[in-house]
Amino acid sequence: MKRALSIAGSDSGGGAGIQADLKTFCAFGVYGMTAITAVTAQNTQRVEAIQALSPQMVAAQIRCVVEDIGVDAVKTGMLFSSDIIEVVAAELARFQIKNLVVDPVMVAKSGARLLREDAIQSLMTRLLPLALLVTPNLPEALILAGMEKIEGLEEMQEAARRIREKGVRAVLIKGGHLPGEETLDLFFDGEQFHLFRGKRISTRNTHGTGCTYSAAICALLALGYNLPEAVGEARRYMELVITHSLPLGGGFGPTNHLA
Ligand code: PLP
Repeated sequence: MKRALSIAGSDSGGGAGIQADLKTFCAFGVYGMTAITAVTAQNTQRVEAIQALSPQMVAAQIRCVVEDIGVDAVKTGMLFSSDIIEVVAAELARFQIKNLVVDPVMVAKSGARLLREDAIQSLMTRLLPLALLVTPNLPEALILAGMEKIEGLEEMQEAARRIREKGVRAVLIKGGHLPGEETLDLFFDGEQFHLFRGKRISTRNTHGTGCTYSAAICALLALGYNLPEAVGEARRYMELVITHSLPLGGGFGPTNHLA
């Protein structure tokens, strides 16, 4: 059986973070493992509290599973601090992890900071050079690319070029925050741009969509798909889990992996 590891935060509400990642791995028939970086007390409305684990504990979780069980692909989600990013990067480099998807989680939909401001630099300099793919949404792409605005395709292409210069092999900018009936995701591997278009699904239950998307790509890489195929297939999964997303709680409900 293929094996995938999520290095991310725990969402007590079960909609995002490692909970979303494990549900996604399971849906793709991939064996899921976790290295928890932080525990959040969270529901569909708010992140009430965050407690990070020690960097040593994060490193130990990675080491334990990689040495014994082994991994075919890894994703990172909420990493919280530069200290944690440093040890995650060191472990991933030491084990020469090739299939690495970095979801540069910064701020939750509810507004809570999931990555400290001073850790953004570490993410760019330490983690991106190790990654096969980084999957920013538009607000994250703005920060990673150091741009003022991204309002259309040309600016998305410029952002993708700039982000790729940080040393990551390929970039997927998720255009879900752009206005309009259509959604537009842009993939760039240094040679070609692939544009993925889709119809916007009207729902407020989108908690955990970013986590789910990067976990699906990670699972598909573990299964041996190449990058553009994995992105296309993961998008189809996103359409399904958002179309059938669940009106749970009083805020942004979660995606539905049982769809
Ligand atoms: N909580 C954790 C632990 C996460 O990793 C993420 C992922 O981005 C979120 C919350 C954010 O979820 P969303 O912004 O989809 O509500």
